[in-house]
Formats: sequence, C-alpha cells, structure tokens
Amino acid sequence: MESKNLCQPHFIFIPLMAPGHILPMVDMAKLLSRRNVKVTIVTTPLNSIPFQDTIDREIQNGSPIQIQLFQFPNDEAGIPKGCESVDTLPSRDLMPNFPIALDMLHKPLEELCEKLEPFPSCIICDKHIPCVAEIANKLKVPRIIFDGTSCFHLLCAHNLHASKVHEGVSSEEKFIIPGLPHRIELQKSQLPGLFNPNSNQNVNAFREKIRACEENSYGIVVNSFEELELEYVKEFQRVTGRRVWCVGPVSLSNKGILDKAQRGKRENNTNDENHYMKWLDSWPISSVIYVCLGSLSNATPEQLIEIGLGLEATKRPFIWVIRGAYKRDEIETWLVEYGFEDRVKGRGLLIKGWAPQVLILSHKSIGTFLTHCGWNSTLEGICAGVPLVTYPLFAEQFFNEKVVVQVLESGVSLGAENGVHLGEEEKSRVQVKRENVRDAIEKVMGEGEEQERIREVARKWAHMAKKAIEEGGSSYNNMSQLIEDIIHIE
Ligand code: UDP
Repeated sequence: MESKNLCQPHFIFIPLMAPGHILPMVDMAKLLSRRNVKVTIVTTPLNSIPFQDTIDREIQNGSPIQIQLFQFPNDEAGIPKGCESVDTLPSRDLMPNFPIALDMLHKPLEELCEKLEPFPSCIICDKHIPCVAEIANKLKVPRIIFDGTSCFHLLCAHNLHASKVHEGVSSEEKFIIPGLPHRIELQKSQLPGLFNPNSNQNVNAFREKIRACEENSYGIVVNSFEELELEYVKEFQRVTGRRVWCVGPVSLSNKGILDKAQRGKRENNTNDENHYMKWLDSWPISSVIYVCLGSLSNATPEQLIEIGLGLEATKRPFIWVIRGAYKRDEIETWLVEYGFEDRVKGRGLLIKGWAPQVLILSHKSIGTFLTHCGWNSTLEGICAGVPLVTYPLFAEQFFNEKVVVQVLESGVSLGAENGVHLGEEEKSRVQVKRENVRDAIEKVMGEGEEQERIREVARKWAHMAKKAIEEGGSSYNNMSQLIEDIIHIE
C-alpha cells in the first residue's frame, strides 16, 4: 500500500455514535493533532455538538484539527429525528435499528472521505462501523480500528473465540479463560452479547461482520497504557500478530477546567459544574463517594433502589448520577415516595442530567468511585487515584472488573453475578443488595491496614497513568510510533 502524504499525514477519525466511543476518540484525536498531525473527525451534526467547543479551543491553540459532518440516516433506518446516538434512542426496542443505520453509512462516508484535503493517510475507525473496511480498501488507505476496550479484554475475547470453552458450559457455571497470565474465572452469563447470541439474527450477523473486519485491519489503537497491562499487550500481539498502539489514558488530554467540565455535555446553557465543585469543596480530602453507571445505564429500578439504600447506609457524603436510568420514571417516583433526598440532605447530591465525570473525579474530596466498569470510566477512575467499587452490567464490563480487582488490585467487587444485556433488562434480577454496597464502600474508605493498602495501590496506578501520557512516557512514544508507521507505510 502506498502512502499518499509522506510529509504531512492526515488521520481521519470515525467514532461510533455513543458517548463511550465518541469521547475517547475525540480525546485521542486531540492528542494526535497536538503532535502537529492533521486530524479530521467525521461525525453527524448532533454528535458533534458536545465537542465543538473543545475542538475550537484546540484550533485556537494551533492544532491542525477539524470536524466534518454527514447526515445520520434517520428515516431510512427507522430511527426518530433528533436521535443520532445509542444513548438518545427513545426506546430499547430501537436498538436493533442502530446496526441498520451503521450499514447505511457506507455511501455518505465514502463520498466524504474521497473529498477530504489533503487525501487521508489513515482512517482510525470504531470497529462497530464495519462498512469503513470497504471504503478504506477502495481508497487504498490503511485502516486502524478502535475497539474502546483494553488489551486484557481483547486477549480474553480472542482466546474465547479460539478455544470456545464457554460453549460447553451452562449459563451460570464458572469457567477459566485459557491462555492468560492470571487465573481469570467468569461465568457465561457475564460474557458480552457476542458470546451469548440473542434471538435477533440481524444483530448476530452484524457482530460477525465486525469480527471479520477486525482481523484484516492494519492495526489497533487502544485506550490503555503499557504499564497497566504489559503482559496482556504482549500476549495479544503474539497470538494475533497485530500491530497494537496503546496511547492512553486519553481522558488525560483534558487538562483545563473547561475541557473537563464540558466533556460530553450536550446543553451548554447551564453551569451546574460550579455548583458541584463548590459542593465538593465543602468536604474533606478523599471523603466523597462518586456513583455513576455510565451513559447507557441499564440497571433496573429495583437495583438502583438497593444502591440508593446502600449509599444512605454508608452515612458518608456521595454524588449519585442517575441520568438516563432505565425506567427513569420509576426511580423518580421512588425518590419522592421514600423521601430519599430529605433523608440524605446535606450529604447526598443527585445528578439527574449529564455529569462532568472527569471534572468530578479530579476533585481531591473524591474517595471512591462506584462504577459499572465501562472501560472509559474504569480508566478515568484509575487516573483519579481512587479505589473503585465495581458493579459491571453488560458488554465487556465483567472483564474490566477483573482487571481492577484481580490484576491491578485497586478495587473491590459488589459481587454481581449476571450481566444485563441491553434490551433484556426485564429478565434481570437484583444483583447487589444494599448491604453489599455499604460493606464494599467500607472496604475501600474505612479505617484499617487493608483499606490503606488499596488506597496506596490506587494512587500508584494514577501516578503511572500520568507518566505514560507525558512526553517520553510509553503512550506518548506509542503515538510517535503510530505517526511514524503511517508516514513510512509501504
Ligand atoms: N460520562 C460522563 N457523564 C455522565 C455519564 C458518562 O462524563 O453522566 C462519560 C464518562 O466519563 C465516560 C463515558 O461517558 O468517558 C462513558 O463511557 P464508559 O466506557 O465508561 O461507559 P458506557 O457509557 O459506554 O457504558
């Protein structure tokens, strides 16, 4: 393959339309453009709104970065106007329409990429948009995939596909994932949807297509850093023969208050951030629990109630983000009927909209993060230097819990046993009780040698994360290598 731009490489970023995928790709794009490499982020109008300001600031600071827009195929895919991302779908029933929309992006994306100036040197594309593989082939441009997870997960997924050990076990039976540096035990009901084919054949076929496109990509960029999971990075490279560049944690690209406060925020007409920061200022160092279950939160109301009661039982200050909760109305009703906000008055802050997570986590009064273990949140918690309390829900989140609890030893599990697949919430039972929440939080925030040890370990990982991204650090060097590899591609 011949590179068309030897001196001035032009990287195209095509993120999947979901906050957990757009946010790290925008962060990564910013980091790359700060290395004086031309970068274009390609997305739809509504998805560009939350990051337009941060990109404008990058441009003012001299970074060669821009946004190019294409229209989301709402009508063709049967998705209501005004929804261009997974988290804004009005109903989980519309989930299967999303892959349909993604398949329809072939033409608009191809037309847009063809016209870009200078001609693209490389396309970095979310792996969930497989039609980009054909576009890159046609344009003879190397395609690098972004998967949004860790090398730990990539290796686990590879080894499961190769060994198929999970196929011979029942849903709640535990088994060991083969070929890993640690002894990692999971049960089938904790695996992502790909390993638990569902009744929708279109969704299964789409997943297979994604896997095929992964295998013939030029390489993979990972939002992680080598020190965090070196054995897994190496082993994944060894067993797959793929090029891997670990360039994270990319959320650390957000250094200024504004970048942290606005990250992912759709409405820029409020400045609730000031209120949250002032509230946090009023608490001692490491005293506040931060609870957020991600952008697609699908815990059932019954489950969220247990979490709320657990928080009440800790008697500690907390911030609880309940935005976008599944069956949100039921939770709102409970909050009123139980008088939750009065009962925790003065020490419990509820965020019902988008939380400025990276900003909150950077505040010194945060003492722990109760997370659903989305990979971004997991890394953001690691960067904050606080122990994590883990409550995985779906996708690869049970793998991420293992990274935190077993590999890094910087968190404790709430003990959830079964995953809750998106769209199948009705089938799920309560996984963690209020006592589990209270006790797990004591294990990381209370007094004692073990508690002090876990806090010390968490601080150590945060220190390493910051070093990795600084000039001369492993992620910084990997980004240099990525640029070199694309410049010198044969
Ligand atoms: N996030 C945020 N505010 C919210 C909810 C989520 O800033 O109220 C961000 C969070 O910081 C993270 C991303 O959204 O960067 C969520 O990604 P993750 O992989 O943790 O979970 P997902 O939402 O994909 O399940």
